Amino acid sequence: MVDLDSLKKQVQETVDEKRSLLEKIAKYLYDNPELGSEEFKAFKLLTETLEEHGFNVEKGVYDMPTAFIATYKGKGPGPRVAVLAEYDALPGVGHGCGHNLIASSAIGAGIAASKAIKDLAGEIMVIGTPAEEGHGPSGGSKVIMANHGLFDDIDGVIMLHPSTSWGVGNQALGISKCRMVFKGQTSHAAASPHLGRNALNAATLAYMATHMLRQEARRDANLVIHGIIEEGGEAMNIIPDRAVLDFGVRSSDQEYLDEMVDKVARCGEGAAHAMGVEVEIDKHRFYASKKLNYPMVRTLWQNYKDLGAPVKDWKESVQAMPMASTDYGDVSQKAPAAGSYIGIAPTGTPGHSIKLAEATMTQTGLDALNTGAKALGMTLVELLAKPEILKEAKEYFDSH
Ligand SMILES: [Zn+2]
Ligand SMILES: [Zn+2]
Repeated sequence: MVDLDSLKKQVQETVDEKRSLLEKIAKYLYDNPELGSEEFKAFKLLTETLEEHGFNVEKGVYDMPTAFIATYKGKGPGPRVAVLAEYDALPGVGHGCGHNLIASSAIGAGIAASKAIKDLAGEIMVIGTPAEEGHGPSGGSKVIMANHGLFDDIDGVIMLHPSTSWGVGNQALGISKCRMVFKGQTSHAAASPHLGRNALNAATLAYMATHMLRQEARRDANLVIHGIIEEGGEAMNIIPDRAVLDFGVRSSDQEYLDEMVDKVARCGEGAAHAMGVEVEIDKHRFYASKKLNYPMVRTLWQNYKDLGAPVKDWKESVQAMPMASTDYGDVSQKAPAAGSYIGIAPTGTPGHSIKLAEATMTQTGLDALNTGAKALGMTLVELLAKPEILKEAKEYFDSH
């Protein structure tokens, strides 16, 4: 009979022992911010650290040079649980999204959990997922990994993200893109307008029709439609023969999102028909919405709570209005997953800012890193020690 409490205690002790290593990793990434798909320094440090701690590391997976899968096996075959690391920075604001702490906490959680699972069946994984911010060929790497089936046989996935408050189980909006290219006929705008077919008029009509969809939107699905007129003609005395609209459509409900993207596309088709121009419509999923898994959320939340972290009640978090989109959404559509936020900066600190980057290096930021690594590590161990949680998570996943 495994004593889960003492294993969790051991995880906490290891994270404390590794405190300076974890802070060094966070600082090194902070000092050497790298854009997505180019995180070579971070990749080297993270993979070397995991290898030094006995992990088997597959590097450059799925043709993404800075992606990795690190595995540490327990006592024999059993469930597989994973923590995800991000390590890409942003132009101008360095680690303004705080991914240096995501990487460091995942490494800390993985190492600490690895030392506590020698009597447990199964394995833990630390998965290095580059370019979360979408930069470069590995952009949205979790989507690429999800499409390759990586998460299909992983039983539980967790991670954290720095923020201005603490919480577990927040929703995320799915985002799909819908780009419309209208093609008409140029003509002199005053002398021979009757010979032209105005692509901009069709685009304008499509833009307005898309606005009108909003009235019928499902209120519980957090629909957001945002778009721009990318091209609208060359000169005012020429009837435009080409106009381009680019829309982002977001919702917390993936099925509903797919349905709404079709409706937005229909606005383009209808407008083109009305104005007698042609339209080409390219619609595709970008990031999926997050599929919440309550058993996973509850387990991760309880570990934060036990550590004394000021986490909101998870029931509040799962109902909070989702604001952003992430490639973690695609992971959650493939495997039972839970995400968490650690509070490193005062309320009102903007995301993607130098202020948030600086907050990762404050005492508050580094203390949050320590707590986050512990909560993630304890959860990895708990999931292997109590496979019934994973079973419940799988049942929940299949039925939602
Ligand atoms: Zn970001
Ligand atoms: Zn981020």
